[in-house]
Amino acid sequence: MAIQWFPGHMNKARKDVAERLKDIDVVIELLDARLPASSANPMLARMAKGKPRLMILNKQDLADPAVTEQWLAWYRARKQTEALGMDAGERAPAQRLIAACRALAPTRGGLEKPLRVLICGIPNVGKSTLINSMSSRKIAKTGNMPGVTKNEQRIILADDFELYDTPGMLWPKIEVEEGGYNLAASGAVGRNAMDEEEVALELLKYLLVHYRAELAARYKFDVEALDGAQDWQALELIGKRRGAVLSGGRINMQKAAEIVLTDFRDGQTGRITLERPEEWLEWEKRAKIL
Ligand code: GDP
Repeated sequence: MAIQWFPGHMNKARKDVAERLKDIDVVIELLDARLPASSANPMLARMAKGKPRLMILNKQDLADPAVTEQWLAWYRARKQTEALGMDAGERAPAQRLIAACRALAPTRGGLEKPLRVLICGIPNVGKSTLINSMSSRKIAKTGNMPGVTKNEQRIILADDFELYDTPGMLWPKIEVEEGGYNLAASGAVGRNAMDEEEVALELLKYLLVHYRAELAARYKFDVEALDGAQDWQALELIGKRRGAVLSGGRINMQKAAEIVLTDFRDGQTGRITLERPEEWLEWEKRAKIL
């Protein structure tokens, strides 16, 4: 069963974002560097068509650095698009972000034509963390300004640079099956919308191909122990190793799945990225054929 998750409020978000986009010069989309394409919002891509875009691959501290480079190059190859990697440890993210936006909209700027930038991202991708790190003193609530949604924030990052926080929640829209699993593995999908064992098995299937050495190191196996192993066999081995055993000696697969998912989310399994650009294109193609 593929992950199907659509918590609602999408139409409201769509309207609010469309309204705000009218006078926005650059759209920033915050992505999870471990699953850049899956954590993008396809609806936003369609609505922001024609506007300069800055893709920020956030949480890069958790992602595979070599694959982050591949994604950055992939996004930079698009028209009017820049891409940056970031993480919460970065001291002054505003500087790089402002410079990238200015380069994307060179005709804006100055007090007459302040650069207006909208920052979007699905829940849990790190938007609040990034905004807070940029704006400790400068957050301006704009609830009573005409045309600005209540709770929306406008952050003045420079005299002629205004950053708007997305009005409302922009949920992921799952169009590609693998993307659903990757969002679930990252923790971005509500727990009751998924079967943890199934999500852990999909994660292990990927790790066995791309991150076998990391998996072996995390759970203290010889890499050879994973040679030819199926996802469920790896899950059993991990369960056994971690004492997730039921009476009678059977492996508690649910518990083992929780261990695998928690370790991945916390970065304990290593720096891992769950999709590569060329894989994503394949998955997308298949999703369209089916
Ligand atoms: P939001 O829902 O998009 O506003 O996301 P938050 O800013 O609340 O962040 C969600 C979680 O991700 C929090 O636990 C943050 O501490 C964590 N987080 C945010 N940015 C980073 C990052 O760059 N690296 C890591 N490892 N964690 C991050």
